[in-house]
Amino acid sequence: MAETYDSSSPRMRTREDLYQLIRSREQVTRAELVELTGMSRSTVNHAIGKLLTEGRVTETDMQTKGPGSGSGRPATGLKVVVSGAPVAAIDFGHNHIHVAIGDALGGLLAEQRARINVDLRANDAMDFAAELLGKLRREVGADQLSALVAGIPGPVDTKTGLVRSSTILSSWVGLAPAQELERRTGLEVHVENDALLGAFGERKAGAGRQHPTFLYIKASHGIGAGLVLGGELYKGVTGVAGEIGHTYLAGRTELCRCGNRGCLEAVVSVQSLLEQVAHTHPTVDADALTLDALDDTITHRLLNEAGRILGGVLADLCNLLNPGALIIGGELGAAGTSLLEGVEASVERYAQPATAAVVEILPAALGVRAELTGGLLLAAFRSAR
Ligand SMILES: [Zn+2]
Repeated sequence: MAETYDSSSPRMRTREDLYQLIRSREQVTRAELVELTGMSRSTVNHAIGKLLTEGRVTETDMQTKGPGSGSGRPATGLKVVVSGAPVAAIDFGHNHIHVAIGDALGGLLAEQRARINVDLRANDAMDFAAELLGKLRREVGADQLSALVAGIPGPVDTKTGLVRSSTILSSWVGLAPAQELERRTGLEVHVENDALLGAFGERKAGAGRQHPTFLYIKASHGIGAGLVLGGELYKGVTGVAGEIGHTYLAGRTELCRCGNRGCLEAVVSVQSLLEQVAHTHPTVDADALTLDALDDTITHRLLNEAGRILGGVLADLCNLLNPGALIIGGELGAAGTSLLEGVEASVERYAQPATAAVVEILPAALGVRAELTGGLLLAAFRSAR
């Protein structure tokens, strides 16, 4: 089952594309829109007319003129109208909570991050997140919030809103996180799997803008995938699609948080890489170690090998889905090019040449903020409809 977050008719989709393009720039002229999109002038004018009538964009004199425009009428620019109450997002990682407030369009206003064990202490984590959000609201003076979207690092049942997987987030099982957070914040809350939010963020404002069909991989303390197929998020029958972190790797015996051995995320994760790096760098303070701190051959080799293992799993998914891009997010996606080169090597080696030839391997353009950004954008989208 796919959930449609894009408008359905081609006309509305065109209008939405133009709106997002205007939004991604400070201001832009109609001529620039024609050039950027390759659409005809009349199509652009028609869509802009609608957006102006709806009050979603406004016309202004361009603040700075380009070279050679010294005389004559100042060009008219278009910019989006920000009106309405701000929105909020919470990103629960396995080991952190990241909270943000955005404007009515989902643009970031303020954020805060804290470390806490989210897996084993669901109620504490939600108490803490609500407290952090309250503090942030007071700081930016956001008395009214129109929507809150929260991402959690496990599957959310699309029919019941319950966390179902007893193996992935054990202390969250049977909880309805949306209701729990509503009770704590007094806001209407929508909960999604975090990788899906990352995929939404990248689709709307990151590396997925040019790719209607791509896989977003959140590679951090766990590994999850958000699938965007033909412009739409794909969640599966009950919302569990994308749990690729528990793919069995033949011959591996590492114990996973899910109780099995040899799962992908038991072998490739921030934790396992930090342990390997600490092992090969006995003089470095292990507690202060981060993956991007070291720039040496051994670390690059470890990251490359992790990328090759991840890429082996992704190669099978390329054969299945023929995506235009694999967008690697999370802390591992942000750890540099060695890991991505490893992914690329395995995709080239194991995916069918016809699928390997068309898939781009990209880091998340929004970096480790993809989930939070996706949460703010989805909150804005939900409060606007
Ligand atoms: Zn597992």
